[in-house]
Amino acid sequence: MADKGKSVSYGNCVICGREALSKYGGGELTGIEGPDAIKLKDGQHLCGACVRKLRLLYPLQWTFDEAKRTVETKDPLWELTGDEALEADRQVVPYREDLREQYGFHNAVFIVDAMAESPGGFLKAPLVSVFGQVLYGTFYMQDEVTVISGGKEMKAPVVAVEEYQFRIPMSASTLKDRVRYYADPATHIGETGYPIQLVLQAKGISVKAGDLIVKD
Ligand SMILES: [Zn+2]
Repeated sequence: MADKGKSVSYGNCVICGREALSKYGGGELTGIEGPDAIKLKDGQHLCGACVRKLRLLYPLQWTFDEAKRTVETKDPLWELTGDEALEADRQVVPYREDLREQYGFHNAVFIVDAMAESPGGFLKAPLVSVFGQVLYGTFYMQDEVTVISGGKEMKAPVVAVEEYQFRIPMSASTLKDRVRYYADPATHIGETGYPIQLVLQAKGISVKAGDLIVKD
């Protein structure tokens, strides 16, 4: 991974005209690190803020490799030309409104891929790691979310937002240590269009692929 302290200038963003600064060398993207400037197919560039905006229309494509326990990602924004990016920019607002309507006007919606549960400790509710993708909106640590599964709704606090990449067998104590020492509420956020892990703490959470977690 590139040195996060250094930024490389790509010139001006094709949408907003501001300087497109790349911190990660064009593409080390996860839901946790947040958007970085990218180079488009025709050599023009998007700044991180415009990548964040267009991500709604072009979510990161990803697959989880069970054998290697890694996430392979592909960024569809790299395949756009400057003109296509400008056209996408015009579609973002109406698309977002359509999506909100489709999902009952929740502020943020996450679609579940898989889950894993770890004991929470003496007299404490278990920690439930839910893996999936943010369809729209932003999830923060300490949010209260509603888990929707099998026609039932259940409220739960988000104790951490983590990278999807940590979909590895993790002991309860390791997960708790991560939540305590590494999960930073200021930077660990789940943004539109990225695969992430929401760590919830509540009894009786059971979700399957396709279930939704929403925030109002
Ligand atoms: Zn821009």
